[in-house]
Amino acid sequence: MSDLLNTPIEYLKSVGPQRGSILRKEAGIFTFGDLLNYFPFRYVDKTSFQKISDIPHLEGFVQLKGRITGLRDVAVGRLKRLEAKLDDGTGTIDLVWFKGAKWIKPKLQNLPEVIIYGKPKQFGAKVTIAHPEMEILTGLEAPSGGLQAVYHSGEKLQALGFTTKGIEHIVAQLLPQVKNQVEETLPSRILGELSLMGKEKAYHEIHAPQSHDLAKKAQFRLKFEELFFLQLELLLRKQITQKKLKGLKLTKVGAIFNDFYNKHLPYELTGAQKKVIKEIRTDLASGVHMNRLLQGDVGSGKTLVALMVMLIAIDNGHQACIMAPTEILATQHYNTICELLKDMPVEVALLTGSTKQSKRKILHEQLKSGEIKILCGTHALLEKVVEYKDLGIAIIDEQHRFGVAQRSRLWTKNTLPPHVLVMTATPIPRTLALTFYGDLDISVIDEMPPGRKPVQTSHRFESARLKVFQFMQDEIAKGRQIYVVYPLIQESETMDYQNLMDGYEAITRRFPIPKYRVSIVHGQLKPEVKEYEMQQFVKGITHIMVATTVIEVGVNVPNASVMIIESAEKFGLSQLHQLRGRVGRGADQSYCILMTGYKLGQDAKTRIETMCETNDGFKIAEVDLRLRGPGDIMGTQQSGLLNLKLSDLSRDAQIVSLARDKARELLDMDPSFEMKEHQNIAKELKKILKAKPNWSRIS
Ligand code: ADP
Ligand code: MG
Repeated sequence: MSDLLNTPIEYLKSVGPQRGSILRKEAGIFTFGDLLNYFPFRYVDKTSFQKISDIPHLEGFVQLKGRITGLRDVAVGRLKRLEAKLDDGTGTIDLVWFKGAKWIKPKLQNLPEVIIYGKPKQFGAKVTIAHPEMEILTGLEAPSGGLQAVYHSGEKLQALGFTTKGIEHIVAQLLPQVKNQVEETLPSRILGELSLMGKEKAYHEIHAPQSHDLAKKAQFRLKFEELFFLQLELLLRKQITQKKLKGLKLTKVGAIFNDFYNKHLPYELTGAQKKVIKEIRTDLASGVHMNRLLQGDVGSGKTLVALMVMLIAIDNGHQACIMAPTEILATQHYNTICELLKDMPVEVALLTGSTKQSKRKILHEQLKSGEIKILCGTHALLEKVVEYKDLGIAIIDEQHRFGVAQRSRLWTKNTLPPHVLVMTATPIPRTLALTFYGDLDISVIDEMPPGRKPVQTSHRFESARLKVFQFMQDEIAKGRQIYVVYPLIQESETMDYQNLMDGYEAITRRFPIPKYRVSIVHGQLKPEVKEYEMQQFVKGITHIMVATTVIEVGVNVPNASVMIIESAEKFGLSQLHQLRGRVGRGADQSYCILMTGYKLGQDAKTRIETMCETNDGFKIAEVDLRLRGPGDIMGTQQSGLLNLKLSDLSRDAQIVSLARDKARELLDMDPSFEMKEHQNIAKELKKILKAKPNWSRIS
């Protein structure tokens, strides 16, 4: 960046020390360059307005132009608000302010015309816009291109004149000065291929666009730049970790794998399973330590992939382990694997918290001697006393239940760290995966085994309770089993517990012993009791399982065909999807019933509708991303690392992919930035890497 752009912000004309300090504190604007990078979040198009008379037919935000009338304070009890009407000649609409009336009111008196931007909401017969954004027209505006930038501001900024207008004003001071001061960062090759606007022009057009089209192009250019450098950074970090970490070289695909594949495979692998096994095989043979995330929706057949990958390790003279978050799951893996390998000379063992001490001793010995080839278990596998002769690969199922620290303990289990494959059933939208796991390799199973009947999902209100009970009874008569799940929200645990117990009571009354049996599982039960109740259901002894989300992860009861989710509006989308994944595992048609109260917020409605519309985990993840934003999904700790100014991972998926491709292409072409046209990129990257803390990898 040129010296001009490094100039402290208080030196900009009309800013000064006091106003400069508020810009620093409230907007993070320290220099001229920072101001240039303080982007507007939308534009007011001064040439186009909606009519108030059309509002009933419009959706979302509207922009209106008219006169303010009927300004008045309203008090309801101790609550005060300011109300006004906007009249545009075609009709009137109510405006309301619940806060800040004191300083808004004087500004609204005796005005010519105003522009209002906001989201109309219907309250009974009245349509109201609360806290509209507003611009007062003086009639003296210069005729501009029609588009005006709108900037984020806040009370403290506004108090010193930095309303959106005020910010626009100082940006206007700055723009003429930066002529020929902005260095182009991208090589002309990329600019040409993607028809990108030059950087300096993009800054001008994003702040003071001459047309919608140019504003869009400017945004695209600057978003691309932001995401391109992020992807470069992630790819570089990945290269660095890979270079440092030599891995076991597992090149052989030998007798055991082939024997299993040719003689013992119970069904044809799906195309997606074949694809990911191939990806993993390539990793294992490369001599570089594998750190791979395997994503696949519930029921997509990850276990079989895990087993086949473990067989490769065994063919190469190593051992393998697979770790699950709960005892039930670990036991299920153990049973599945034993069944699949039953006629093969591969020793499989199970180690969990409840493995007896005497048995444990023997296990430890057999592991050390190399007799045991595959060890299934819970985090008991991570204990220090568990030593392997030669662990080649560790597979971790349901990644989100294990912490980073736990996982890193695996690394000490061999002189060269064992390869690590993390499996998750929580689909992550591609943009997020590319960014948050940008330094991991990712494989996706995006195809279900054939012959699955998609789960039928419906939404029912409390008034349909009796019908739902009848439906349950019919399914049980057909020999099926049923889950009924209650939400558990930490803050109101006692209330949730009460709901669960009330529900349990109602169900046991409707489905009485001895004809029916009902299990109950929740967090307040002792682990042994929980385990017992689960097993009763797994074995088919109980018909109905009433539970909190304890059952969320992984249990496989193919005979369970109905999932009833109580207060479904309280669950997040990914949780609903995970829960639904508990059914539809057998050959029968399965059902998911979402019970809700009558009052549903907009987001809750969208969640329920999405669940009823699709079974596709990735589609659901995309909606989830739109509703919650990346920070919520990935945890603030990780989203904080991104600090994206302009791009939005939920909307700019295409630009993320494009940036990823171009970054990879560049690194293939010029891995150490030696070409002349890449010097500016190298410079920019250095700056970025210096400014960021060295964040750790997830595995
Ligand atoms: P998840 O990915 O949720 O762990 P599982 O590995 O438990 O899924 O597999 C779900 C079910 O699908 C199991 O009953 C398994 O036997 C079956 N399955 C896996 N792969 C295939 C396949 N290629 N064809 C048919 N069924 C399969
Ligand atoms: Mg599984």
